[in-house]
Amino acid sequence: MRKNIVAGNWKMNKTLQEGIDLAKELKDVLAADKPNCEVLVCTPFIHLASVATILEESTVGVGAENCADKSSGAYTGEVSAAMVASTGAKYVILGHSERRAYYGETTGILKEKVKLALANGLTPIFCIGEVLTEREAGKQNEVVYTQLSESLFDLSVEDFSKIVLAYEPVWAIGTGKTATPGQAQEMHAYIRSVIAGKYGKEAAGNTSILYGGSCNPSNAKELFGNPDVDGGLIGGAALKVTDFKGVIDGFK
Ligand code: PEP
Repeated sequence: MRKNIVAGNWKMNKTLQEGIDLAKELKDVLAADKPNCEVLVCTPFIHLASVATILEESTVGVGAENCADKSSGAYTGEVSAAMVASTGAKYVILGHSERRAYYGETTGILKEKVKLALANGLTPIFCIGEVLTEREAGKQNEVVYTQLSESLFDLSVEDFSKIVLAYEPVWAIGTGKTATPGQAQEMHAYIRSVIAGKYGKEAAGNTSILYGGSCNPSNAKELFGNPDVDGGLIGGAALKVTDFKGVIDGFK
């Protein structure tokens, strides 16, 4: 059965000490009031080892926000999937729209990153989603299909079953503009049908598909109440424990 997951994406926020403080506070708050879903935080590389140590004995998982498309060597400034895994992190966000748009990450590059993440025991949280002009042109399904097929559909069914998907309409990320629950459900159901077509109904039913894009404590419950929405990838609202907890409580 698929899992309900709320994953934070800290992006390029928080100094090391601020990140440590946030992780400690989150750990305490969730120990006092247990979540009804899996919770994890994806942090900048420099936080990973410290945050993984803090959250080791808790139910909160840890992930990176990216990893390299090469396994090791002369790639100055890059961080490999093996290095991420060596910190204790278990997840890695791949294909976030900010990486695609600002750092030129193509579907081919992402395919390599996914393979390396899986080879190193990491669970990719693979992001897909259309920009506003694509939605306005009614091309959202086409865009998402291409993102899925070009980066993931070479995987075996066994490897595909290790992937978590995040549908993040780019027009909703950090804009305060959320997809309506109806728009989210419609796209998540489409994504699941595409997976069923490629890997079969069982695999599709077992894939967690998160929604991302201005999800907050006041809209989380309604979004997560949709049958094909299995949780959220949370940016801005993951930076304050009260907000993140409010989103997590969308499953209560
Ligand atoms: C994200 O960056 O994945 C995201 C969903 O951001 P926000 O929640 O701030 O829109």
